[in-house]
Amino acid sequence: MSVSEIFGSLVFNDSVMKERLPHDTYKALKKTIEVGKSLDLTVANIVANAMKDWAVSKGATHFTHWFQPMTGVTAEKHDSFISPIGDSSVIMEFSGKELIKGEPDASSFPSGGLRATFEARGYTAWDPTSYAFIKDRTLCIPTVFYSYGGQSLDKKTPLLRSMECINEQALRILRLFGNDTAKRVITTVGAEQEYFLVDQELFNKRKDLVFTGRTLFGAKPPKGQEMHDHYFGAIRPRVSKFMKELDEELWKLGVLAKTEHNESAPAQHELAPIFSNTNIATDHNQLTMQMLKNVAERHGMTCLLHEKPFAGVNGSGKHNNWALATNTGMNLLEPGKSPHENAQFLLFLCAVIKAVDEYQDLLRLSIASAGNDYRLGSNEAPPAIISIFLGDELTEILEAIDSGSAYDNKEKLEMEIGVHVLPHFPRDTTDRNRTSPFAFTGNKFEFRMLGSSLSISGPNIILNTTVAEELEQFADILENAEDFTSELNSLIRKTIHEHKRIIFNGNGYDNAWVEEAERRGLLNLRTTPEALERYVDDKNIALFTKHKIFTKEEIYSRRDILYDAYNKTNSVEALTMIDMAKKDIIPAIIKYQRRLAELIKTKKELEIMSEPESTILSRLSVLCSDIYNKTAELEETVNQSKEITEPQDLSFYYKDSILPVMHSLRASVDEAELLIGRDYWPFPTYGDLLFSV
Ligand code: ADP
Ligand code: MG
Repeated sequence: MSVSEIFGSLVFNDSVMKERLPHDTYKALKKTIEVGKSLDLTVANIVANAMKDWAVSKGATHFTHWFQPMTGVTAEKHDSFISPIGDSSVIMEFSGKELIKGEPDASSFPSGGLRATFEARGYTAWDPTSYAFIKDRTLCIPTVFYSYGGQSLDKKTPLLRSMECINEQALRILRLFGNDTAKRVITTVGAEQEYFLVDQELFNKRKDLVFTGRTLFGAKPPKGQEMHDHYFGAIRPRVSKFMKELDEELWKLGVLAKTEHNESAPAQHELAPIFSNTNIATDHNQLTMQMLKNVAERHGMTCLLHEKPFAGVNGSGKHNNWALATNTGMNLLEPGKSPHENAQFLLFLCAVIKAVDEYQDLLRLSIASAGNDYRLGSNEAPPAIISIFLGDELTEILEAIDSGSAYDNKEKLEMEIGVHVLPHFPRDTTDRNRTSPFAFTGNKFEFRMLGSSLSISGPNIILNTTVAEELEQFADILENAEDFTSELNSLIRKTIHEHKRIIFNGNGYDNAWVEEAERRGLLNLRTTPEALERYVDDKNIALFTKHKIFTKEEIYSRRDILYDAYNKTNSVEALTMIDMAKKDIIPAIIKYQRRLAELIKTKKELEIMSEPESTILSRLSVLCSDIYNKTAELEETVNQSKEITEPQDLSFYYKDSILPVMHSLRASVDEAELLIGRDYWPFPTYGDLLFSV
């Protein structure tokens, strides 16, 4: 089958709708999708029936409302289409009511206290702006998820709200620049996804991987990524087969999977889709993560989406490429060719610069998680400090605007925005700096701090909302300006002047940057608990409530859900460590020690020297008792944590009192691993895992 035949073959997309719906119904649905008009039930009934017929023709037997609760992954509850007629036969049925609204038992999804336990009901509502699709013989209907009281319980509702919000404000700006044709401004996103592949049999032999998705122990292999021979290297046959099938599965679902290559660490790979609007990109990234897991399994492998599966080896991130576009396809972050277009570009650029500077905390916390804490700020990932990379050319231009001086490129010119042409800056020179957390890459921003398992919804809610806020402020000023050009000039100049501290083109991995950032007054929120505290700062509550993204209660509940996730992750990890240490590691060390002791005894009887055995044995004795004591200490600290009831306090307790013990236990175990015979070590090593596929 050709790619163009399979592409989107499992999606109830525009062309299927056109083909299968009566013209009037199609038009009504289109209107719903484009301008958010609500759909009446008669229309919904027709759509539902057409969807069902189409799905059944593709082999589907069930349908589900597919939603994205606060767990960060997707949820579905399958119902079959069958409905009995008479007492011996059934027909396949699907009503408009079932399409529009669902009522899953929501009590086991996190609500952060929003939904009292006595009110377990939650509702899902069809989001027609994301197409229905078929997965596992089930018609999946993208929905939003909310409580009986109307509070949002998912990651989609606020995202859709934030898209609406930036649409409204960006259109105001476009109108000011004389654009009367654009009907909508959307945010576009391309999420590059990194992941590891390991052999499934080896994976299953490690409780840490099975329970937590990352290795809690493991000495460094003799060969890691130092040779840099994996990055963009030839893809091995097993992986290549996997990628081929993955592409096909994703294409059927209409996911524009585009490039796949090896990443810098052994066993690490990346998949990049072609960008789409943020809502679709969010759904597609969720589908991509699921498909990565499913397809890997079919090939005898396990896909690790954890941010840091292996200590000392590069972790996995997700680059969120973000831009603004009109419905006519104009990218608003594309530097223009005329003075007029340049001025508009600079204004949007300034909105992003101001947003990132003023809401560093929100951007930072939008990507905070227990797993990502192991990655951020280490030598392969962006630091926990937020800054913007603009590249030298663009920075020089902004500096010239700020100082009102001539921009010194080949030709000298006095920059007056809206009057002079911006000097051309070549695009490829803007993408050299891989150490920046937030980089302008020619016509889009690349937010690089996301961990590989994160839903991209959170960071995009923040990007959309904060930039919308700045655009609104700009529009308020400019709409009331007496002289548009001079007001625009001073607004851009003022914004650059006040927010240029956030621009940093140097090496983000350098320690000197940490000090420099502190001098500039930039935030350095190193860990998840510290970052999450900022969620409820007055200025942030004001932002969210003003733009109707979250109510105050929703903000508090979301913060608590995130604290809770952090605490649970750490709790499972601590308990897994204790279990592995007690049941596997200590017994293995004892066994090896016994073997050594027997040998030493025999050698003594034979009067043969036993120098190496004795040295190893005494070091292992020390380590074994270390491991025993640290495991006991870890058990004790975990027990004490049960006294703490507030999620926030508990998260700080984990960070300050439990993680250091885990770290120290690991160090002793990793040293022991290196001293013990291969046959005695109870699970596959880093070397086995990283070079297994
Ligand atoms: P790389 O970062 O590897 O150099 P590209 O810059 O071409 O590659 O693209 C990286 C990702 O950015 C891709 O997923 C691509 O679709 C996405 N992207 C490109 N243009 C835009 C845009 N205007 N808006 C959002 N994402 C974009
Ligand atoms: Mg990239």
